[in-house]
Amino acid sequence: MRVLIVEDEVALAEGLRDGLIADGHQVTLCHDGDEGFELARRSDVDVVILDIMLPGRNGYKVCRDLRAAAIMTPILMLTAKDGELDEAEALDTGADDFLSKPFSYVVLEARLRALGRRSSGPVGSVGGERLIGGDLVLDMGARRCWRGTTEITLTARELDLLAEIMRAAPNVVAKGDLLIRVWGQSFEGDPNVVEVYVGYLRRKVDVPFGRTSLQTVRGHGYRLDVDA
Ligand code: CA
Repeated sequence: MRVLIVEDEVALAEGLRDGLIADGHQVTLCHDGDEGFELARRSDVDVVILDIMLPGRNGYKVCRDLRAAAIMTPILMLTAKDGELDEAEALDTGADDFLSKPFSYVVLEARLRALGRRSSGPVGSVGGERLIGGDLVLDMGARRCWRGTTEITLTARELDLLAEIMRAAPNVVAKGDLLIRVWGQSFEGDPNVVEVYVGYLRRKVDVPFGRTSLQTVRGHGYRLDVDA
């Protein structure tokens, strides 16, 4: 994988870089938020590892600016142990995952692999898989989404979550199953992340169109109602 590390703690950044290179990844390193933004925008990387407190623009801002520029490269945010951020806030900026410092290299590498797979299509999917639910269409090969003729920009995580709900339709898919399929077995954060992300999806695929297709089935999970 091609990995961009944006982290101003030089020793940590270089340690990560050396580990990732030893594991066969290509690594670009920078220590500044503005430079990180430009590198992520201009170069072809599979995953960005992004610190929050950085010289130049901070990690939240880098993340938001990349998403605003329609750069959907998966982003793993590194958060400090002193709780400098609310996890929901990190996710709200468009980050795909986060890891609290200090973290183990093994966990970081596993998360990166999960994110990298996501950016090149979900595990086991047939290239060009197309999911259709009423006028909602997902092209899993191209990683694109439409409601009718309007294209909707989704982050990698949002797209995978919507795909799982669409694959299960018209059945309900349990929150725990979504957590495992989309966030992976190694996810150690708050399981309410599923709800948070369903909320993001609603704001993109339902609310602007006056629809309520992503339905919560209390005590069970979520289902897609194509007519709602
Ligand atoms: Ca820092």
